[in-house]
Amino acid sequence: MGERVTKAKIPRIGLTTSTDDGGAGGPDRVCILTKTAYPNWVERAGGLPLLLPNLSPELAGPALDGLDGLLLTGGKDVHPLVYGAEPERYLGTTDPQRDRFEMPLIREALARGLPLLAICRGLQALNAATGGTLRQDLASDADATVQHRMDVVGENVPHHSIEIERDSLLHLLLGATRVAVNSYHHQAADQLGEGLRVSARALDGTIEALEGASGRFVLAVQWHPEVMPADNEVTRAIFEGFVAACRSRRGA
Ligand code: MN
Repeated sequence: MGERVTKAKIPRIGLTTSTDDGGAGGPDRVCILTKTAYPNWVERAGGLPLLLPNLSPELAGPALDGLDGLLLTGGKDVHPLVYGAEPERYLGTTDPQRDRFEMPLIREALARGLPLLAICRGLQALNAATGGTLRQDLASDADATVQHRMDVVGENVPHHSIEIERDSLLHLLLGATRVAVNSYHHQAADQLGEGLRVSARALDGTIEALEGASGRFVLAVQWHPEVMPADNEVTRAIFEGFVAACRSRRGA
């Protein structure tokens, strides 16, 4: 009996995915794609990861039924028309099918008060879905004086520092006001979406973490905690905090 109760408490966590042909070419070769590091970390932290394909927007609500949390994974650039901007010269590859599903999915998850963790593109998608805007390319942006796209060859190690706002959710989770993180992004949040606050910045002012202002677990990080080594304390604290919030929701 006790075992059955324990099993029922495993939080069910939806993970967004990319639409990609994996280089194979052609519309009949399109795959749903995400790094295994995301579901692996959700599982390691005690959650049940469930991958969500990019469905029609009408299914955003039904897709969340029965879920206790939502993880917005990394991926391609959000199309600028989504946040009312024109494409700039160094905009990267976009994923319109994902944008169409993810925007209503995020808004519905927020409306339901689901715990939400957003990573890299996930942060940018969260900001766009709540009415915010993005900087389209940091490499050609004079204000981005820190290198945010570290060389992917070699070890996955912390690359630049971030300063964390006191009394933020991120501060509560990490118990620190400065940590070092990896950095694989070429975009960043610009104007904030409604209901969001900045919880960390790189030393050049680039937004590195956002969170909800409501007190619920809504956390977005611009770096990639999921690909850090399993003993990385920052990564563990983020995933364990997120899954704990999802577990509380399931138990409620
Ligand atoms: Mn960065």
